[in-house]
Amino acid sequence: MTSIRTRFAPSPSGYLHVGGARTALFNWLYARHTGGRFILRIEDTDKARSTEDSIKAIFEALEWLGIDWDEGPFYQSKRTEIYRQYIERLVRTGHAYYCTCSPEKIQQMREKAMAAGDKPRYDGTCREKNLGPQPGAVVRFRAPYSGTTVLKDVVKGNIVFQNSELDDFVICRSDGTPTYNLAVVVDDLTMEINTIIRGDDHVMNTPKQILLYKALEAQLPVFAHVPMVLGNDRSRLSKRHGATSVTAYRDMGILPDALINYLARLGWSHGDQEFFTREELIQKFDIAAVGKSAGIFDPVKLQALNADHIKASDPASLAPRLVPFLARTGIEARPDQYMAKVIATLNTRSKTLVEMAEAARFYYLDQITFDEKAARKFLKPAVAPALEKLLAKLEQLDEFSDKSLEKVFIQVMEETGLKLGKIAQPVRVALTGTSVSPGIFEIIGVLGKKRVTDRLEKALEYIRERSG
Ligand code: GLU
Repeated sequence: MTSIRTRFAPSPSGYLHVGGARTALFNWLYARHTGGRFILRIEDTDKARSTEDSIKAIFEALEWLGIDWDEGPFYQSKRTEIYRQYIERLVRTGHAYYCTCSPEKIQQMREKAMAAGDKPRYDGTCREKNLGPQPGAVVRFRAPYSGTTVLKDVVKGNIVFQNSELDDFVICRSDGTPTYNLAVVVDDLTMEINTIIRGDDHVMNTPKQILLYKALEAQLPVFAHVPMVLGNDRSRLSKRHGATSVTAYRDMGILPDALINYLARLGWSHGDQEFFTREELIQKFDIAAVGKSAGIFDPVKLQALNADHIKASDPASLAPRLVPFLARTGIEARPDQYMAKVIATLNTRSKTLVEMAEAARFYYLDQITFDEKAARKFLKPAVAPALEKLLAKLEQLDEFSDKSLEKVFIQVMEETGLKLGKIAQPVRVALTGTSVSPGIFEIIGVLGKKRVTDRLEKALEYIRERSG
């Protein structure tokens, strides 16, 4: 069997949309699943809309997602000579012809056809003129007037197009540049792409592309047109629904593996499994299991899945990802062992890296500030003796383990007659500044003796100042 060759062919006229990312992902997963090759092609023939910044943004988003390519990036803008050869070949073999009809004339044809209740179409004026290349001429494909063109789609089944609905579409503009359908077919042919997975907004182009393949006597690739990604109102996902760029989700603290998992599940399923690691996706993805119905992008579900991925990640491997989010809160920290320990206390309580960074701040601050309300409620003179005792005992303690800490707390409880609940909350406020945090022993274990004792002293000072 020949090996699978897939491609992602974005038009660089903006950031990478999550819908585009899903197309890239399906192609990538299918190539990885089958041991095939995944090719990246930048469709930058539309000079007015293509920008260098968009190309960079697309690379950045793909790299962040971990979608790597085996060949390319190829740029359509650099392949004009190849397209020219194919256009000439189509003319030579009688499948295409030069047309000198003026734009005004084409407009008249359209109006005439529409007035007669027909689809606007080229009326074939230059079809049999046998014109040669000349300034201002376009090249048109000689499309059949009758019969049908069948798209055998892996996702949608067979779609039959009446050839009478097609017209002699332009394959080369008067400035010598190829049109979209021609460039795509020539690229897919010369890059030996045998499996085309793309959004179903391209279904209408496919009969033209099939006709071009046939005219070039080439074998058709397998087509899989995947339903669009929709917003919660079932219209095509757009900015109206919220963020749509891949990097916006990165900046919201979503993990690439979570976004990949979520996007894969929009349109593809494997039993009722929701959580997939990257490796599992590669192992289990198959285009045969891509569904016909559109997926609805739900940022709340994405966050929930992200929480699961955060939980499942090794804390040390999350550390480098957390660094920029900590930096955003003003904490400059390195992804070291300390950070891994910090993460281990937060990974079951954070839906995003933004939340995690926010919750991690107290571990890093030299000086924590007490939340007013929490301090007023919990840092009262009545708990000072307990905090003092705790401070003294912790200073003596060499090793901070759950066990040794528990022993210390029990002693303090016994000596003061206070219940754990009455001691734990003030200690929490003393150590974190707030009344919500991971377990108290965990925090103490991570912060270590110096920070813990410093903070307990500060809390005692605070109590003394307020009561004095
Ligand atoms: N460049 C096209 C787009 O961004 C994709 C073309 C294709 O996949 O055939 O929509």
